[in-house]
Amino acid sequence: MSKVSNVLVVLSGPSGVGKGTIADIIKKSMNMALSISCTTRLPREKEEHGKHYFFISKEQFSEKIEQNGFLEYSSHFENFYGTPKDFVLDKLKTQDVILEIDVNGGLNVKKNLPSAVLIMILPPSLQELESRLKNRNTETEEQIKTRLKRISYELDKKDLYDYVVVNDKLEKAVEDVENIIKLEKNKEK
Ligand code: 5GP
Repeated sequence: MSKVSNVLVVLSGPSGVGKGTIADIIKKSMNMALSISCTTRLPREKEEHGKHYFFISKEQFSEKIEQNGFLEYSSHFENFYGTPKDFVLDKLKTQDVILEIDVNGGLNVKKNLPSAVLIMILPPSLQELESRLKNRNTETEEQIKTRLKRISYELDKKDLYDYVVVNDKLEKAVEDVENIIKLEKNKEK
């Protein structure tokens, strides 16, 4: 994989932790490009194709795997998610890029692009996360249980990440992530 001068920032963390909100704010404040992943899951209410995800079929996803079209991909809850390789590498030519993906995805990205900066966003507590997930009303009880089980798995890998940011107060978490990116941009790569 070729060396790039712009920074690729990976934001990971359990579902409902607020990484999407943080990514949206930082995208604007730091003029970054937000990568759009492909997924085989169905859109939630208010989600748009080409904005939140590229919603594609399992067949289309398999074809893209065969064409080596993903920087990384993995499955969650019986659906596939992947980072489109061309999309990200093209954006990186002119801009810093944010990826909002799961922990395994982030670690796989780092294997391909060692200069990628991995930031894990954590909730202040597990109870807090559970109530955030319930309040957003987009998953069933069963889905929430499955998602909560995955959290301990993700937390176990936090030491493999470059940085950990706790999202207690949103403004503070955003500021922490911005400072990390500024620091990384000043480093010799
Ligand atoms: P959700 O269905 O809640 O949008 O996402 C479920 C999980 O998939 C989240 O942990 C999210 O970070 C992860 N995810 C989203 N896009 C990608 C991707 O491109 N690659 C990987 N590996 N995970 C992704």
